[in-house]
This record gives sequence, structure tokens and C-alpha cells, in this order.
Amino acid sequence: MPPPITPLEQSKDDQDDLVFLEEHPTAPAVPGARNVWRVMIIDDDEDVHSTTTFALGNLDMQQRPLEFVHAYSAGQARELLKHEAEIAVILLDVVMEQDDAGLHLVRYIRETLNLADVRIILRTGQPGYAPEIDAIRDFDINDYKTKSELTRIKLFTTVTAAIRSYEQIRKINDSRRGLNQIVHASTQLMSLHGVQNFASGVLAQIADLLGQDGNGVLCVQECPEDGCHKLMVMATIGSYRHLDNATLCDQDHKPVYDAMELTLGQRRNIYGPDFITLYFAGKASRDFVAYLDVGRAPTEIDERLLEVFCSNVAVGLDNVELVTHLHNAAFYDQLSKLPNRTRLVEILDATLAGPARDEATLSLVDLDHFAETNDALGHQFGDMLLVAVAGRLQTQLGDQLTVARIGGDIFCVLGDSSQVNPANILALFAHPFSIDGQDVQLSATLGLVRLGEHEGSGADALKDADIALKRAKSQQRAGHFYFSRSMGVEIRERVRMMHALRTAFGQNQLFVVYQPQIDLATRRPVGAEALLRWQTPDGKFISPDRFIPIAEYSGLIIDLGEWVMRTACRELVDLRKAGHTNFMMSINVSQVQFRHPHFLEMLRKALEDTGAPPEFVELEITESMAMEEPDMLIKMLGQIKQTGVSIAIDDFGTGFSSLSYLQRLQIDRLKIDRAFVTEITGSARGSSIAEMVIQLGRNLGLAVIAEGVEDERQAQILQALGCPLAQGFLFARPMTATALNGWLSNDALEGAA
Ligand code: C2E
Ligand code: CA
Ligand code: CA
Repeated sequence: MPPPITPLEQSKDDQDDLVFLEEHPTAPAVPGARNVWRVMIIDDDEDVHSTTTFALGNLDMQQRPLEFVHAYSAGQARELLKHEAEIAVILLDVVMEQDDAGLHLVRYIRETLNLADVRIILRTGQPGYAPEIDAIRDFDINDYKTKSELTRIKLFTTVTAAIRSYEQIRKINDSRRGLNQIVHASTQLMSLHGVQNFASGVLAQIADLLGQDGNGVLCVQECPEDGCHKLMVMATIGSYRHLDNATLCDQDHKPVYDAMELTLGQRRNIYGPDFITLYFAGKASRDFVAYLDVGRAPTEIDERLLEVFCSNVAVGLDNVELVTHLHNAAFYDQLSKLPNRTRLVEILDATLAGPARDEATLSLVDLDHFAETNDALGHQFGDMLLVAVAGRLQTQLGDQLTVARIGGDIFCVLGDSSQVNPANILALFAHPFSIDGQDVQLSATLGLVRLGEHEGSGADALKDADIALKRAKSQQRAGHFYFSRSMGVEIRERVRMMHALRTAFGQNQLFVVYQPQIDLATRRPVGAEALLRWQTPDGKFISPDRFIPIAEYSGLIIDLGEWVMRTACRELVDLRKAGHTNFMMSINVSQVQFRHPHFLEMLRKALEDTGAPPEFVELEITESMAMEEPDMLIKMLGQIKQTGVSIAIDDFGTGFSSLSYLQRLQIDRLKIDRAFVTEITGSARGSSIAEMVIQLGRNLGLAVIAEGVEDERQAQILQALGCPLAQGFLFARPMTATALNGWLSNDALEGAA
């Protein structure tokens, strides 16, 4: 038996070449084991070896020659197969040492060595030794031929078919392995946070896919504004670590830069002899590119896998970048670069949970009249001003503070109470801000919360600060206000009441009562004021002084007011039907209602639908309302007057209406506030204000009515002063419609008598 002519040495050389390649990435690629098809001939008949090599020697499949490995016994084959790699086809003699030595070898190959890819063609001298059909299937035997059957042509086609089949199996397995790896890689990558980590992960995974040590760099191409592309390094691996955070230009790192530029230009991966560049298409003209040194040129399958990987990862890379961007946009104010409200709430939560809590104060800093400055000097100027304020807050209050911008012109300062206090913060606004060579004097109003006294979340603390700020502003002394717990209770109570009121309105817990108005001379009723009542299911009455402001604040007053208007008009019509035809109905109208664009329409419709005669309907508006926006009011009152209803000014004397202004308003009646009626008998000054109002009415040709008349003495003084009409508990308390009907029919007559 001649020594086996195995290409073992050759194969070793290949291995060595590979090792050599990996150590010297610049060495030219040398055909490795995968560039030939390896066919193993196992036969104890020497002649079979030589005829086979002769028959197949020139076979070239897909530009790859065959390479033979020879074994002359099953035993020798076992030994060889332990070390030989990448055998594509085994031509195996069934009968060797034993009659079934070949079949045992097949079991050994498949089950012990776990070589699943290799194709096996069984050959036997005699037809009688054919293996069971089960064995052929179980051991994945490609073909079974008697030696006489295997003519040169037949052998050629059989081996060709086996090699093709081997190649497919390898491809499938490689792809499956690769795809598994990609899936694995993607899952790994998704768990990484931050774009830098993700990018590093991508480099590591590429190296892993290629089965190489990673040496590479990943860049993002910034949209070129100046024509010169800039490649910002996002991540590096291995020998490229020194490029961390660098920007690649064409001057330095030329080979890497050129390769990357070429890849970005051609929008595809490039596989060089000793490097690869991978292209990741990003959105919004931000593409990514990776450059890696490789020890060997990637195989076709490698390339296809990398392609799949790139398109997979491009989405992730883009998303992570986007998320990072969004994170910034979500947590930082783009103008001032300060934390925004969302971020501040996070910081507040952390502060509240930490040891600094007891000493910490939160202050909202609201720039006074910033909107006007903005309008007058332009938005660009306004932006510069805001940046200047941000800068001053940040640099001059001391370090270790959090300064945030949580709204247009509202900043927030959080830190130790020794630094965050009204004196320190307001002092920052003592000097003007110099913008564009122009001095701008600003002032600010503060709403503060001592976190040590605060119960609740960061968001709650911010709400409290806002409540304090509103209080500070409403008190109109450019200054500050510290939140106190009672304010919070009050607010929460109001919110609770707002919900309850809405429900009550829906469930008809509200009703209208009527308080008669009388002629002081005759003591006969001339009209009534409609007043809203809210009785809760447990029988409690809630004062309109409490719930009307809430209805106004929540906007519910629009529907509520309309309902009162219609109810009162209907009652007026009913009273007229009952014979009280010379009777006036006064209806309170809130400022919010009055300003509503559909108010006039609502009024007209209420009159029309109920059939109430407008000349017997009077609207009461408050004096404070009469003082605001004179032009709008004058126009509005004119339109209202055209419907035919009359207008009274409620609570007169509490505001500061100027005479000339009053003259321009088309009003019919002044209602002297209860406070001045009480004053008539209460104060030493006597009747001064009530008297003035009565005189004013007379001079302006307006009717006058006094409200809140509680005792006879008040009634008599008012009458003596020339006040013709009055309303008050002395005459009648507010009463339901039914009660009013009865009162008008009986009691009123008694009262007058
Ligand atoms: P107002 O318009 O000044 O109404 C007069 C208030 O004085 C009524 O209180 C009435 O009950 C009370 N009053 C009448 N005579 C006397 C008296 O002799 N002594 C005392 N101490 N009080 C007297 P009420 O009903 O609690 O209403 C309070 C305020 O709620 C009203 O003040 C008005 O501003 C508002 N309001 C009531 N109903 C409505 C409504 O339907 N719409 C709007 N917008 N506001 C309403
Ligand atoms: Ca009133
Ligand atoms: Ca009043």
C-alpha cells in the first residue's frame, strides 16, 4: 500500500497563509482552502484512486479546481477526517477492512464527527453489498453506485452534482449562521443606549460577523454647508481608538477618509483587498459609514450578510441618533440650552428625594412685560435678551444651582435657599441688560417654594411655584411671593369645586331665586333681581360669591349664564301672564359671558325664544367691568341697547369710573353697592358716597337703586336723599319663582299697605 498522497502539507500551508494574513492585513490575498473543492477518495483499491483522479483531474467547477485527499482504509480515513477541513465530497468504498467498513465510517462521519455538510457517494464492487435504503436516508448519503456503473462520465456528473449540493448546503448553513449572528447582533445593539455606544456596538458586531479582530472607525457625515465634507467620528475600535471624537478631513487620515468618501459617494459598501467600508443610509442626508481593516477579503456570503446587516443597522443607527436628538429637544431648551420644564421636573424629583431637600428653594422668575419688549424690539432681539437673562442667572447666583427655562419668559432657579432668595434674584435685574449696544432694563416677579415644606412630586412643586407667582403678579407689586400650604389647599378646593359645579349643573342642582326691588315711596314691587343658587345633595347652600368666580374661571359661566338668562326671562313671561305686567327682571352678567363672541346672539335668542319683552329686561354689569377696554364696552353696550334691554351698573361706587366715561356709556341705572348703604347708618361721615351716587345719577339722568337695605332707617335716609328704588332683606329675601308669585300676590300688598 503506497503512502497516502494527501495534500496535507498543502493544506497546512493554507492554514499558515491564513495565520500570516491575519497578522499582516496588508499581505495580498492568497487562495485559501475555500478556493478549491476538496474531494476525499477512500478506497482500499489503489487503482480506484488513480482512475478517479484521472477521471476527475481536470474538473473545474465554478473556477475552482478539485483537490484530492486520499485514504486507503476506513481506519486511515477516520484519522484524516479528524483534521481535514472543508471536504466537499467523499467517494467511499463500502467494502474495505470489513464488508461494511464503509457504512460504519459513514455513521462515524455523521454522528461522531458531526460533519453534516460533506456529500458522500458510496461505491461498491458488487451489487449485493448495497446498503439498506434506510441507511442511505439516515446517513444522508448522496449517491450509491456500483463501481462498474461509474464510468468516467457518470463519475464526473455524480461528483459535480455532489459538489453543487455541498456548495448549496454550505451557503445555506453559512447564511443561517450569519443571519443568526445578525439577529443576535441586532438584539445586542438595541439594548445599547446612546448613539456612541450603538456605533461602537456596530463596529464590534461587524468584526464578529467577519470573525476578525476589530480595527475600525464609524463616522457620520454632516450635511456639508461649506462644501467640505466633514466626517465626525462616532465610534472607534482596536487600532483606530486614537480617532475618538475626531473629525476626519481630507488632509489627515487620507486613505480612510478617501475610502469613506468613495463609499458615501457611491452609496454602497466597498470591499477592498485589506479593508472594507460599509455604507449605512441615514435619513435627512446624514449618512453613516464604517471603515474596517480586514485580514482577508470577505467571501460572497460575508458580503451578502454584511449587506443585510448594514440595512438592518442603518435604521437603528438613524433611530438612535434621532432619539438622542429628541432627547435633547425633549429635555433642553433649544434657545438658551438650559434644561426645560420636563428636565426640571426630573431634577426636582431628584432633589426632593435627596438630602439637599430641606435647604432647597425653587423660584420661578417671570420677566415683567417681556411680551411688550418682544413686540417692540423684534423677536430676534427678544431671543438675545432671553439668552442674556439665562446667562446672568447661571453665572451670578453662584454655582451648584439649576437654572431652567420652562416657558417663553419664565425661568426657574433651584438651589440652596441661601442663594435662591428674592433679594439675590431680584438684585440681578437691578442693572440693565446690554443687547446689541442697547440697554434694556428688565424687572421680574418671583414665585417661590421652599422644598423642605413641600409635600408631593417635583411637578407639584412647580405648580405650587406657579400659584405663588400668580399671587405675586396679582398683587401687582413687582416682587415675590412664597407659596404657603393654605394656598395649595385653596387651589385644590377650587379644582374640586369646579368638578362638583359642573356635575351639579348637569344634574339640575342649580336654580334661580328672585329678590324683589321696590319703589321706596310706595313700597310696591317694581321688579326683581335673578340670583343663582346651588344646593348640594346634602342640603348645603354654596354661595354664588364662591362658585361664580369658579364658573368664570372654568368657562362654565357661558352655559350657566345662558341658562340663568333663559330661566329669568321665562319667569318674567310667567309673571306677566299672572298679571304683573309692569315688572322688571334684572339679570347679572359676568364679564366672561359679556366678552364671549356669541353673547349678543345668545341674548337675542333668549328673548326671542321665551318671548320676554326686552324693555322689561335689565342686565347688571359690574363697575370694575365697565372700566376695562372702554372702546369695546361702548360698542358692546350700544349693540345690547339695540335689542331693547336696559343696563345697570352693579356695585357702583366700588370702582373708579370717571364721569366723562360714564357719560359715554349707554347705561340706564346705577346700583349703589351694599357697603355704602350700610355706611349710611354705620359711619360718622354719614351719607357721603351714597349721596354722591344719587346726585350723580340725577345729573346724568340715570335711575338709581340701592341694594342691601336691611333696616328701616337706611330706607328712610335713602329716600330722603332722593333714591327712588331699593332692594334688600328689609323688603324681601331672594325667593323661588313660586314664592315670588305668592309674595307678589299677597305679601307685597301687605308690605305696601
Ligand atoms: P350681587 O349682584 O351684588 O347680588 C346681590 C347680593 O346681595 C346677593 O347675594 C343678595 O342675596 C345679597 N343681598 C340682597 N339683599 C341683601 C341684604 O339686605 N343684606 C345682605 N347682607 N345681602 C343682601 P348672592 O345671591 O349671594 O349673590 C352674590 C353675588 O353673586 C351677586 O352679587 C352676583 O355678583 C353673583 N351672582 C349671583 N347670581 C348670579 C348670576 O346668575 N350670574 C352672575 N354672573 N352672577 C351672579
Ligand atoms: Ca347684581
Ligand atoms: Ca351688587
